Amino acid sequence: MAAYGIDGVIMRTIGRRLATIVIAATMILLLGVASPATALDDGGAIDAAYQRLGGSAGRLGQPLDAGWCGLKDNGCVRHYQGGSVHWSSASGAHAAWGGIETRWAGLGREDGRLGYPLEEEQCGRAGSGCVQEFQGGSLYWTPSYGAVPVWGAIRATWGSMGWETGRLGYPTEGERCARAGNGCVQDFSNGTVYWSPDYGAHPVFAAFLSRWGTLGWEWGSLGYPTSDERCGLRGSGCLQEFTGGTLYWSPSTGAHPVGGGIGSYWSRYGWENGPFGYPTSGESCSGPCTQDFWGGRITWDPSAPMSYTLWDWNPLVAVSKRLPLSPQSYVPPSLVGIGSQQMRSDAASALQRMIDDAASAGISITLVSGYRSYDEQVSLYSSYAAQYGQAYADTVSARPGYSEHQSGLAMDIGNPDAACALQSCFESTPAGSYAAANAWRYGFIIRYPGGYQDITGYSYEPWHLRYIGPDAAAQMRSWGAPTLEQYFTLAAAPGY
Ligand SMILES: [Zn+2]
Repeated sequence: MAAYGIDGVIMRTIGRRLATIVIAATMILLLGVASPATALDDGGAIDAAYQRLGGSAGRLGQPLDAGWCGLKDNGCVRHYQGGSVHWSSASGAHAAWGGIETRWAGLGREDGRLGYPLEEEQCGRAGSGCVQEFQGGSLYWTPSYGAVPVWGAIRATWGSMGWETGRLGYPTEGERCARAGNGCVQDFSNGTVYWSPDYGAHPVFAAFLSRWGTLGWEWGSLGYPTSDERCGLRGSGCLQEFTGGTLYWSPSTGAHPVGGGIGSYWSRYGWENGPFGYPTSGESCSGPCTQDFWGGRITWDPSAPMSYTLWDWNPLVAVSKRLPLSPQSYVPPSLVGIGSQQMRSDAASALQRMIDDAASAGISITLVSGYRSYDEQVSLYSSYAAQYGQAYADTVSARPGYSEHQSGLAMDIGNPDAACALQSCFESTPAGSYAAANAWRYGFIIRYPGGYQDITGYSYEPWHLRYIGPDAAAQMRSWGAPTLEQYFTLAAAPGY
């Protein structure tokens, strides 16, 4: 039985009684007078509580002293074989006993942060636990952890999460304060709550808790948590913010921190929604700093612009008038020939399958322009600029380093009779309508759909196919994301 468990063997011993008598005798000596029961200035409240709890036949047993007053807030106390009853006008008269009383005493009784009891202990909680409320907080007792105080902001956070039946479980030790930044921490059976004056109390759990620990807790680069954990991110991921960065977790990548210059560069590419996905490592610095992500690596070198490398298999390149290729003279891996053009091998084989399937359906698709190197783009763009001026050139040609064609993942397609070549009416031609209906099945999207120039920076180009892989293409279609900018959650890129 839980109540007996609190009481424990020690509480029932003669030693305990003797200790109480010694304390009482010491108090009497210090006070210089033996206060008679009739001198208790509590309006009979202590005796009423004693009777309410069964008197001498109840848990408290026989009185050990006559009681005395003069405690904090003009309070009074009387000791019994099985515990004590404390009274103050603000709190009323309530008994404390067993493990909870012992811990309360260790915390300074009514003079400590807990103050006077507001009730007797209430047992029958989850896990055979008991709780007793005090003016300044609670004492929770469990067979596993004994009596543990909980108070203040950490107690409020714990309560908001469902007390001991919530995710945190029971407190396993008292709050420890004077941590870095004058913060406090308290451990619970299933997590830890950290409090700091500037950011309040936030629980940290599981993978985030252990990853934070490997980085040195609040003394390390992450500092204090500034938010609770937030889940439901793409791919069933979670994040938690700290003063020095953010921890990201996903089922396949685990928990890793992102912050600083690399974090802000990553955010320009759509955070975990973009080509890089979730971090798979922390930042590593030896000279330049690098961090690995699911989709590639970001490098920060103090003496050079930020740069990235996507893993060779990753076709989720984000390139727009705001996001140049990295480096701007980028050359794709594994270029192969397709017709008279070139593409990355993954894009080329997918496109070839589409062309073959279209041919089986009686539709011929021709290839107009695939991979264009940085140098080819230089001459293409400068010839437009020389002929029409830069303003016009920017509307019909990407600047070198900003063209999807340089990624090896784009192809301009046409019809054998060149009907509506590179015009918006291409959408109604056999090749155009076949691509519009079917390209996604092969991992392609119409990269510049009509009506989204303010987002993509390009007017409608129903002939410009961009390979992003079948998974992403199917997801964009099922989510109804019209542009890659929206799918990756990138800022709009209407111009350079
Ligand atoms: Zn194109």
